[in-house]
Amino acid sequence: MTVEDEVRKTIRQIPDFPKKGIQFLDITTGVKDAKAFKQMIEFLYEKFKDKNINYVAAIESRGFIFGAPLALKLGAGLVLMRKPNKLPAKTLSETYNLEYGTDTIQMHADAIKEGDRVIVIDDLLATGGTATAACKLVKKAGGVPVAAAFIIELPKLNGAEKIRTEAGCEAVSMLKYDLS
Ligand code: AMP
Repeated sequence: MTVEDEVRKTIRQIPDFPKKGIQFLDITTGVKDAKAFKQMIEFLYEKFKDKNINYVAAIESRGFIFGAPLALKLGAGLVLMRKPNKLPAKTLSETYNLEYGTDTIQMHADAIKEGDRVIVIDDLLATGGTATAACKLVKKAGGVPVAAAFIIELPKLNGAEKIRTEAGCEAVSMLKYDLS
């Protein structure tokens, strides 16, 4: 069995959560499996170890789970992309559209400097709205979003395409699920 298939088996699927019609991919069963968690971090590390990464920018909240160990392994710093009004110092914001309404993410204004090379990370890529906003925040600060990285991608929702066309950033994912 491939490493990808082994990790895939650890991810639980919950139908109709948080609302009817959504198939929720539950990363908690993946990261509680010591071997699978390690394989996820190894996958990400291998992708980026030679890319001269200065910072891993982790999206609240499940992105934090992967961002911290990846940053340590890469010898990079960890930057937090948070929901509004959580960060204490001056912030930069990016607002993006949801199915109904909008959402906003924030980063400290001084977290990233001109020319810094940054990986944006979250657990799952769906429509790409969140990660596109995160890549735009990196660019606003003058940084280079080298890639947006995920454990899971739902390719039917075309998130990778959105990130590429709207933020000029490539998406990398370990496992693809044929869900929409
Ligand atoms: P999006 O902005 O549409 O790419 O949504 C990505 C965010 O929503 C990530 O932080 C995911 O954790 C969460 N998410 C979206 N769809 C799912 C799903 N089917 N299962 C688990 N998490 C999801």
